[in-house]
Amino acid sequence: MSCEKKLAVEEIFGEYVFNKSVMEQSLSKRAFKILNETIESGAPLDASIADEVASAMKAWAVSKGATHYTHWFQPMTGITAEKHDAFISPKSNGTVILEFSGKELIKGEPDASSFPSGGLRETAKARGYTCWDCTSPAFVKEGTLCIPTAFYSYTGEILDKKAPLLRSVEVLSKQALRILRASGNKTSKRVIATVGPEQEYFIVNSELFEKRLDLMLTGRTLFGAKPPKGQELEDQYFGALKTKISAYMQDLGRELWKLGITAKTKHNEVAPAQHELAIIFDPASMAADHNLLVMELMKKVAERHGLTCLLHEKPFAGVNGSGKHLNWSMATDDGINLLDPGTKPAENLLFLVFLASVVKAIDEYASLLRLSVASAGNDHRLGANEAPPAIISMFVGEELESVIEAFVSGDTYKDAGRLKTNLGVPSLPVITHDATDRNRTSPFAFTGNKFEFRMCGSSANVAEPCFVLNTIVAKTLSEAADVLEKAKSFRPAALALVKEYLAKHKKIIFNGNNYSEEWVKEAEKRGLPNIGNTVLAIRELISEKNMSVLEEMGVLDEKEIESRYEILLENYSKTINIEALTLVDISERQLLPSILGYALKLSSISSAAGSRTAKTCLDKINAQADLMYDRLEALKAAVKAAEGKDAFETALNYREKVVAAMGALREVIDQTEPMIPADVWPVPVYSDLLFRI
Ligand code: ADP
Ligand code: MG
Repeated sequence: MSCEKKLAVEEIFGEYVFNKSVMEQSLSKRAFKILNETIESGAPLDASIADEVASAMKAWAVSKGATHYTHWFQPMTGITAEKHDAFISPKSNGTVILEFSGKELIKGEPDASSFPSGGLRETAKARGYTCWDCTSPAFVKEGTLCIPTAFYSYTGEILDKKAPLLRSVEVLSKQALRILRASGNKTSKRVIATVGPEQEYFIVNSELFEKRLDLMLTGRTLFGAKPPKGQELEDQYFGALKTKISAYMQDLGRELWKLGITAKTKHNEVAPAQHELAIIFDPASMAADHNLLVMELMKKVAERHGLTCLLHEKPFAGVNGSGKHLNWSMATDDGINLLDPGTKPAENLLFLVFLASVVKAIDEYASLLRLSVASAGNDHRLGANEAPPAIISMFVGEELESVIEAFVSGDTYKDAGRLKTNLGVPSLPVITHDATDRNRTSPFAFTGNKFEFRMCGSSANVAEPCFVLNTIVAKTLSEAADVLEKAKSFRPAALALVKEYLAKHKKIIFNGNNYSEEWVKEAEKRGLPNIGNTVLAIRELISEKNMSVLEEMGVLDEKEIESRYEILLENYSKTINIEALTLVDISERQLLPSILGYALKLSSISSAAGSRTAKTCLDKINAQADLMYDRLEALKAAVKAAEGKDAFETALNYREKVVAAMGALREVIDQTEPMIPADVWPVPVYSDLLFRI
């Protein structure tokens, strides 16, 4: 047993974060006031305090063991990027001092020619800058002071996922405040998008992981026969944790707490080897940073335990994939949750204006929201009968549904009151029901006082769906505000507006089973988009309507949208290309040789011993090997022919031809695997990966 004394949670929480309490202690009153003002209200940053903040930050970071600093940013692909610089500065007498200036804090130049820019930055003009985002606190990670930043090009276009999120946060606040003011609210100063991500992941044994090139290079298994046991017993969900997993989760939780991340809930998920971790919600930009750190630490801490964390959306066929639920709401700086219906939603007019504006936003910009969660990995989930379908709809629950019905039809709404359950055992408490039951199949579900957006992939940066959500809601709020600001009296105008929005957009509301065939047909009748894959979703980015909402709200300009379009398509094609080449490599260098080797062995047994069984097996295996060879050649040909006339056509070829050819090859491999003895098959199989922890 380790004799290291475990410190109390309160003592370790935020230990490595340059948070407000540290700022207050280490900065002058003036500097703290100015910085805090910017963090709290989005006031312009006063650069005159930069030197003082930098010096305090450095002193604090050094006391936490840091020797380096980095501008931590979120490029368009990959998770996060960091380039470390030491604090040292040489002196003429051969010694060094530790220095960190305000200039270095505020701006960095990561010479970013190798980050995707979608044509915004020619390689020859490699300048890219990072600038300090003080709304998300700096922290020390592995001896380096990490400064959250936004990343942009020499010509001023943004090249990352953070900057649009920050812009969307501002515009949402501005538009929501207009509604609040129109309703007579004079006290709230800001509206904050709140986000609480729940992260799913798989854990496998590292030794086994390293034997699977597909897992190492692509994050998922490209083949693997169905194991005798999968998730059919439903015994994993919320099940007791395996000892190793429990130790891992404890360690992970403590590491996250040290970084001021409120890791709260942990449990087993539906699939074997699948788990989930939820943190308590934060303002959107901080939540996105925290989720990135959660993902990074999930991987790093796993290594210490001889485990590997898989964040891919679909590491294994035949069992559930992993997603990320984004809980999202809007709250004022003085503590009003704008999506909290209270006990009498029908009388809560302000809530209804916000709700109706969200309903309208989701209906009008469903395709943009769909795009925000599209990725090669997520294509395995959305619409694949386990995660929500590719069709965006909203679940509001019975109570709100009847409120909405009453509004639209003009009837008066009768509050049915909350159900109470008495289990008939005196020692058990009587419980009042929530206003909504759950609908696990809905992509966008109202869960009492927030929405839960369930389509996000587990490996994604939540900044993307968050900025889209903020932007489209800001847009519909701005339209509502245009009407309400002009109205003589708020109440009748708001009632009419809610009625109009709900009547027009309630087609996006669906409280039934989203996994059913009937819903697909019904959604088509309602005219809701069903965008089946990433490539088609990416095309939605450049539709006139979607471009104009992003531009009008000031979140992305035309050039930025066009560059993102290119980056997304290229990234898709590259991802599928890597998967295809990996499958070819494993098939040629590992699978076929071992299958043929075993065939040779069978052939000698069958001729030497005249074994009928050996002969039958041999014939079957030879037939499989031939089929596999043909499909392998077909896959290689599909990859060769994938290049199209533009990025869209190339991506579509990958989606339609290469993915299909990979599927065909996989089918033969998976049929062959059970025919080959365990000691001959060259890689770990699904039962090893899923159950041998
Ligand atoms: P549920 O019972 O709906 O799963 P929980 O209370 O467990 O709700 O919360 C799930 C996630 O939603 C957590 O990350 C939580 O912090 C987050 N959450 C709760 N309230 C809000 C809110 N107002 N805005 C954003 N996220 C929220
Ligand atoms: Mg969940």
